[in-house]
Amino acid sequence: MKASNYFIPTLKETPSEAEVPSHIYLVRGGFIRQLAAGLYEYLPLGFRVLKKIENIIRKHMDETGALEVLLPILTPSELWQETGRWEVYGKELFKVEDRKGRLFALGPTHEETITDLIRKNIRSYKDLPKNFYQIQTKFRDEARPRYGLIRGREFLMKDAYSFDVSEEMAIKSYEIMKKAYKKIFDELGLDYLMVEADTGAIGGKFSHEFVVKAANGEAHIVYCEKCEYAANVEAAKYEFELDKLPPEKEKPLEKVHTPKVSSVDDVAKFLGVDTKKIVKTLVYILSDGTAIAVLIRGDRELNETKLINHFNILDARLATSKELEKMGIVEGFVGPIGLDIPVYADVSVKDLHNFVVGANEKDYHYINVNIPRDFKPIEFVDFSTAKENDPCPNCKSPLKETTGLEVGHIFLLGTKYSEAMKAYFVDKDGKEKPIIMGCYGIGVSRLMAAAVEQNHDENGIIWPENIAPFKLHILALNMKDEKIREVAERIYNLAKEKGIEVLYDDRDMSAGAKFKDADLIGIPHRIVVGRGVKNKIVEYQHRKDQQKQSISIENIENFFEELV
Ligand code: ATP
Ligand code: MG
Repeated sequence: MKASNYFIPTLKETPSEAEVPSHIYLVRGGFIRQLAAGLYEYLPLGFRVLKKIENIIRKHMDETGALEVLLPILTPSELWQETGRWEVYGKELFKVEDRKGRLFALGPTHEETITDLIRKNIRSYKDLPKNFYQIQTKFRDEARPRYGLIRGREFLMKDAYSFDVSEEMAIKSYEIMKKAYKKIFDELGLDYLMVEADTGAIGGKFSHEFVVKAANGEAHIVYCEKCEYAANVEAAKYEFELDKLPPEKEKPLEKVHTPKVSSVDDVAKFLGVDTKKIVKTLVYILSDGTAIAVLIRGDRELNETKLINHFNILDARLATSKELEKMGIVEGFVGPIGLDIPVYADVSVKDLHNFVVGANEKDYHYINVNIPRDFKPIEFVDFSTAKENDPCPNCKSPLKETTGLEVGHIFLLGTKYSEAMKAYFVDKDGKEKPIIMGCYGIGVSRLMAAAVEQNHDENGIIWPENIAPFKLHILALNMKDEKIREVAERIYNLAKEKGIEVLYDDRDMSAGAKFKDADLIGIPHRIVVGRGVKNKIVEYQHRKDQQKQSISIENIENFFEELV
């Protein structure tokens, strides 16, 4: 491809709305443009990368025997009503109305649609197993679309759905997908972790996320360097037994004056005790309207996802000052003793002795509190957010913490959708049973950004080999020099003959501008045709290390053979 005939509108300046490297370089490099918040146009260069990612995914999905389909983007509201997700999905669902007043959602995911297809077309165990997938644009009205392709409102996803006769078979299908995902992310050339994940609003039995390590990622992961364990902090089990304080003899309960001292650190300092012995009392309002108190040790953070999952509710939030006041609760000095709402406790509070809690009275705390002598929580639940140095649930060594971008997510759904939508099959024994399902997503467009987050320097992108828009970039440094032009043209034609995907910068521009653009665009291999042609020499560079290497023009054919 000749750059003079192509369309690569590179920018010198960073667009004001771009905060992270992938967003900055994809816009500046002429890969994408923003139409409106969370909506992007893929320009020719960006489209090439997207297609490469898509094709790697497709190849490995096809290898598993999954069958590619294409489902409508408009999905009837009635299907979403059947599973209750018309409401549950909330404001993220883009809803539209047709001319007759019938409501639809622009598909954010397709469990309902595919389950409807299956229930209408699959009758018997003989029709199973099946796995259908599609690569399609999805719509989600995200609360905060940001970071360019990382969180769009319209984005490309690969979604697959498996259907099996038994849980055992469904686990097999799940394992096949897991393996295919590893092959996909390996071939894409990314550094990723497969982590145990929370099953969230989609629901289901177990799930794994594939997370590309990146400084700007929203996913928080703990992982073990000793064994294979890795989990989302929301899903990681907290091994409180290994993190307990030694037992103590109970001391008598005492109310102490703690004027204006209410934060964990301040109370610990004021009383001269370890933060592990300060117990926070958090008042939460659950989505069903009830108020509860949750106790957690001062050195731990409560995880709202664990809370939401435990109570099987849609949402939970901390009570506001006004709400606390209405309930007669003293902000900053809340404690479980004598509190009028249900009290739950994180496992970190279990077997804790002589600890400190608020006294439900301004400027007072209780010290030497003990369970069950002074109060009794309804139950102890793991509500803790995992963090660096927590003991690994597998091998007990200290965990590491990192951030990353979730690029894939697989779920063993079980019968959640098949029961809600009556997708049954007749088994060998003649009985009707719900089909066991799994679902498997990959963020195709997010992957493009993830690859850049992981592969860039201060000058631009460094594309991994397999998804680079072109493999080779030829720069002719001075188009006015006939010899340079002639050699560059010849090398370009030869590369094409060899089947190398090549971009030839034949524009009438300064050498400096060409190098700048080439660094920004990030094509891995580069041949620079300049003054060296007089001595029958061109220069080779890899975008990664920028080391210059002279190649004699006669040798270029061999060089291309190696490149292929
Ligand atoms: P997130 O936690 O990032 O919102 P999710 O759990 O909502 O993701 P899934 O419903 O599992 O995501 O969707 C499958 C995949 O689609 C995700 O792993 C992610 O890579 C991608 N994805 C999800 N939301 C977006 C978005 N708004 N923009 C781009 N890609 C997305
Ligand atoms: Mg989401």
